[in-house]
Amino acid sequence: MHLSRLFQRTVRMHGARPALTSGTLPPIDYAELDRRVRRLAHWLRHDRQLAHGERVAVLMKNCTEYAEALLAIWTAGLCAVPVNAKLHPQEVAYVLMDSGAKACVGGSDMLAALAPALGPAARVDLLDAHGPAWRTVAENGEPPVALLDVLEHGKAEDFAWLFYTSGTTGRPKGVMLTHANMVMMALNFFADVQGVGPQDALVHVAPMSHGGGLYGIAYMIQGGLQVVAASGGFDEAELLGLLHHYRKASLFAAPTIVGRLVTHVRSLELPEGVDPCPGLRNIITGGAPFYVEDIKAAVHTFGPRISQVYGQGESPMTISALKADALGEAVRCGDESLLASVGYAQTTVDIAILDEQGSRVPQGATGEVTLRSPSVMHGYWNNPEATAQTIRDHRLYTGDRGLLDERGLLHLKDRSKDVIISGGTNIYPREVEEVLLRHPGVREVSVIGLPDAEWGESVAAVVVRDLDSTPADADALDALCIDNIARFKRPKQYLFMDELPKNATGKVLKQELRNLVAQGVLKSNDRKPAIHPV
Ligand code: AMP
Repeated sequence: MHLSRLFQRTVRMHGARPALTSGTLPPIDYAELDRRVRRLAHWLRHDRQLAHGERVAVLMKNCTEYAEALLAIWTAGLCAVPVNAKLHPQEVAYVLMDSGAKACVGGSDMLAALAPALGPAARVDLLDAHGPAWRTVAENGEPPVALLDVLEHGKAEDFAWLFYTSGTTGRPKGVMLTHANMVMMALNFFADVQGVGPQDALVHVAPMSHGGGLYGIAYMIQGGLQVVAASGGFDEAELLGLLHHYRKASLFAAPTIVGRLVTHVRSLELPEGVDPCPGLRNIITGGAPFYVEDIKAAVHTFGPRISQVYGQGESPMTISALKADALGEAVRCGDESLLASVGYAQTTVDIAILDEQGSRVPQGATGEVTLRSPSVMHGYWNNPEATAQTIRDHRLYTGDRGLLDERGLLHLKDRSKDVIISGGTNIYPREVEEVLLRHPGVREVSVIGLPDAEWGESVAAVVVRDLDSTPADADALDALCIDNIARFKRPKQYLFMDELPKNATGKVLKQELRNLVAQGVLKSNDRKPAIHPV
C-alpha cells in the first residue's frame, strides 16, 4: 500500500478529526491538511518540476511543516530524505549529493548555511518551508485533485524514505525504505506497542527525521493527532504542559531524554499521589540501551506508561518491543531479567541468533542478532556491496550481539564493534554499565575497550557523576563490581567527564571516547591493578 493512498483513506474516514498542530494551538483537521498537502504536492511536481521517484531532502527542526512536507512528498510520488538537522552543513551536503536529491525543503537559516557547502555546481532546489512561497502555495487556491499517476501507479515497492544511518562511525549510508516497509512498521506498532484511537496524540519531541517522524505515519494511518512541541525539541516544562493539555498523549524519546524528564519531575517534589502528567498515555523509548535502574526510575515516576522498542534504520522501529503494561508489571514484581531485555520479537519479525558461520546458536548463547521481516529495508542506496554484506539469504544482519532466553526475550549485548575482547574473552560493556549505574553517584556511564599491549584490550569506564549524591570514586565503583560481576570484567580505569558525547539520537559515541583517550584528552585519575582471566 502506498502512503498517499492511506492518507486519502484517513481523510475520507476521519476528515473532521484533528490532524496536526504546534503546541496547544487549535489543530487543523484531516480535511484541511489534505487540501494543503494536495496544493503542495501539485506545486512540487508541476512548478518545481520534480519527476516521479525523485528524492527530496527535508532539513528542518521539528515543526508542523515537517509532517506536511512528508505527506506532500509522498502524495507527489517522490521519495523523502529526512536529514538530521544537527548535522554540519558539509555532512548535509554529503547526504544530498549521495542521495541525488533534486530539492531540499528546509528552514531558511539551515538552507542559508547549506548553500555554500553545496557549492555553485550543485543543482538542488532549496525550498524554504517557513517562507512566503510555501505558505502561499499551501494556503491558497482550489486544491488540485490528487495526482492521478501516483494514485493509480504508486506502488508499495516505491521508495518512501531514504533513511541516512546515524553514522556513529564512518560515512552514513542511505537505507532504502519502501512504502510497504513503512506500513509494516505501523502495523507492528499497533500490534506490539500500542493502538491509536480518536483521542490519541503523538507529541514530537525527538527529531522527526528519525523514530518520531516514523511514528507520525502510524498516527496518520489511524487518524490520530500529531503535536509538534512549539520549541521544536525537548524542554521539560513545555512537555509537562503538553502532557496536561492533551488527554491521551504518547511520545517517542531516547532513554537519556526519559532520564531528564524523570529528574525534572522529581525536582518538582509533588505531593504523593499527584500525577505529574495526567494526559500521558505512553512514553516509547529506544534507540540506545535503557538500563534497568533507569527503567525502574521511569516507572516509579510515571507509572506503567513506559514502553521500549528495539529497531534500527534497516528495520525501522521494528525488531523487538515491550508494551507499557508488561514493563510496569516487571518493575512491580521485580522481574529483572525482563527489564534487562529489549522484549519480544515484534509480530512480523523472525529473529535468529547466529554464530560467525551463520548457524543458529543454542538457546541462551550469544551471537549476532539477525532477522527476517517485511519491515526490512530494500538495501543501501547505491551501495550494493554494503547491501550484500548486511542482507544475506533475505536475513538482516544487525551488527548487534544478543541472545534469546527461554521466554523468547531478546537480550542485547552490544554492537559487535563495541564488544571488548580482553585476554581472548568477550566482555559486554552493557553488563558492566548496568552494575555501575546501581551506584547513586553515577548519572551516566559508558564502558569501552582500550588497547592493551598484554591483553589486547582492557576495560575502561567513562563516568558522569551525579554531584548531588554519594560520591562515586574509583574505589567505590570497584567495590560494586567485585560484589556483582566476574573480576576480569572490572574496569581497569575510571575516567570522569561532565557529559558523554552523543549523536543526535542519543547514542553515546564510543568511538569518540576511545579517540579522546588515545589523544590524551581524557585521562584516568585512578588506576586499578590489572586483574585478568588466567
Ligand atoms: P539507528 O539505525 O540509528 O536507529 O541505530 C540502531 C541501533 O541502535 C541498533 O542497531 C542498536 O545497536 C541500537 N538500539 C536501538 N534500540 C535499542 C534498544 N532498545 N536498546 C539498546 N540498543 C538499541
